[in-house]
Order: sequence, then C-alpha cells, then structure tokens
Amino acid sequence: METKTAKLLDGKALAEKIHQGLQERITELQSQIGRPPGLAVLMVGDNPASAAYVRNKEKACAKVGIASFGQHFPTETSQGELEEIIAALNQDPQVDGILVQLPLPNHLDAVTLLHQIDPDKDADGLHPVNLGRLVRGEAGLRSCTPYGVMRLLQEYDIPLRGKQAVVVGRSILVGKPMALMLLEADATVTIAHSRSHDLKSITQNADILIAAAGKAGLITADMVKPGAVVVDVGMNRVTDPNGKSRLVGDVHLESIAGVAEFLTPVPGGVGPMTVAILLQNTFVSYAKRHGVSSDEL
Ligand code: NAP
Repeated sequence: METKTAKLLDGKALAEKIHQGLQERITELQSQIGRPPGLAVLMVGDNPASAAYVRNKEKACAKVGIASFGQHFPTETSQGELEEIIAALNQDPQVDGILVQLPLPNHLDAVTLLHQIDPDKDADGLHPVNLGRLVRGEAGLRSCTPYGVMRLLQEYDIPLRGKQAVVVGRSILVGKPMALMLLEADATVTIAHSRSHDLKSITQNADILIAAAGKAGLITADMVKPGAVVVDVGMNRVTDPNGKSRLVGDVHLESIAGVAEFLTPVPGGVGPMTVAILLQNTFVSYAKRHGVSSDEL
C-alpha cells in the first residue's frame, strides 16, 4: 500500500523570496528617498537565546539593506532609561521600526515599554493600537508570527473561507492574533488552551490546525484530521538520549506526515517567516512615512 506523505510548507524558501523582493524595492527607493529603512532592536541583559535572535534579525536586515540601530543594554538598565530611549527612537527620522527583544529582566515592565512605542513604528505589530486595528479589520502593522503563517498559507493557495480552523494557544504574541487573522480570512475559528477539555476532539475537527502551545510532541497523528493543513509554530529545545540538543515543534512530525496534506517543518517553517515579516513591517512603515505604496509586497 502506498504511504501518503504531507507536502511541506517551505517557510525558508518563501522568506528568501520576501527578502529578495524587499531588497529590490529598498534599492529602488533608497536613491529616491535618500536613506534606507531603519530598524532598532533593543536588547537588555545577556540571555543567550535572545542574543542569537537579535543577531539573526540584524543579519537579515543587512541582507535586504535595512539599517540596524540595535542597542544592547546591561541587565541593570532602568525602566526610565529605556522609556527615554524609546521616546528618542520614536522621534528619530532614520528609524522606521522599533522592537524590544523579550524576555526582559524581571525588574522591567515589558508591557509598559511596548505601549511607549509609536504604533506606526511597531515592527512587531504587538502594540494595542495595532492589535485593535486587527480586531476591527483595519489596516495596520500585523504581528509577525501569525502574519507569517497567513502569508505561508496564501503562498500555497490554501483556502481558508468557511474552513474549520483550530488554534492551540491563546497568547497575545501568537494564538490570539492568529485566531483573529484566520477569522478575518473567513475561517470558522476555535481557540484551544491549557484548560480546554479533550484537546483531541477539538483538533480532530480542524481543516487548518495551528499548534502554538510550546509543548514538544503535543500534537500526535490521532489528533489530526486526514487531509488537514498543520502549521507548527512551536519552538522547543529538547535533548536527545545521546545528549545532543535540537529544536522541535509542538507537532510529532514523523507520524503526522502520513495523515496531513500540508505540514510546516521545524526548523524552516514558521521561524524564517517571522523574521521576513519583521523586515516587511519595517519596510511598510518606511514606505508609508514617505507616501510610497507597499501594496505589491
Ligand atoms: P506562551 O505565551 O507560553 O503560550 C502558550 C499557549 O499554549 C498558552 O495559551 C497555553 O494555554 C497554551 N498551552 C500550553 N500547554 C497546552 C496544552 N497542553 N494544551 C493546550 N494548550 C496549551 O507561548 P507563545 O509565546 O504563544 O509561543 C508558543 C510557542 O511558539 C513556543 O514554543 C514559542 O517558542 C513558539 N514561537 C515561535 C515563533 C516562531 O517564529 N516560530 C514565534 C513566537 C513563538 P494557557 O493560556 O491556558 O496557559
């Protein structure tokens, strides 16, 4: 009997395509406008995972021609100092996007800092004004990870209208905006979380299943409807019996490959899309500030 294998939704390839498109548009506009787009990534302390993410973002900026105004602050930096820095970046005409790399040291209030960012420079799309625009279905900067998922589904012509979509996870970073974006695309959306009873009976109904719980191996083959589209947002570091550490998602990929129609790999699925949308958001702010359309992106 022939075994069916899910087709991969290749986030790495699509991110590369988005980078190329951005690079071309930036080269074209920079000579007209007289400056490149600028992104300021603020990092506090020395969390090694955050440092790696920041390096990755800065490398991607350099690749497409976005200027980085990254700043790295010592762990003891105060809330007031950071608020002043954000206020200065809000006024800085070279800067189109600002993001605060999370998590922050415990003495800092991340939500208050996030609220200080000018919503039109909110490259992460997490400011309440931008989340409010999403709730209302208005244009605005969209949260990078869920928007990256939407862009990936669109690239593979996956229909969403009228489909049953299940999002596992309800964080403000992923689950909630993800559910709203699917709703905006006319899917019928269910959100599951750690208090949901009988997760399996919920996920089994999903034509589109988005796993964003941060639990390795949470979604197994028996929880997936045959022919479903499964997007794995989870990024979990696990250690193999031989002591080697590797990155896995929330989905048990090997078993699901025989059930799902489409599947995102981890790594190489949603992760690269998040960075691509961050750069795109920075470009959109830049273009808007200079009255240029960014519609074709
Ligand atoms: P989070 O803030 O910890 O939220 C996790 C959500 O999953 C919560 O809503 C939680 O429910 C729910 N959950 C936890 N265990 C569950 C279970 N057993 N059954 C059902 N729901 C469960 O995490 P996050 O920031 O949303 O991130 C989620 C995952 O995505 C993480 O692995 C993170 O590393 C990854 N991530 C990846 C990218 C990327 O670019 N690929 C970007 C962002 C995040 P409660 O609300 O009830 O606690």
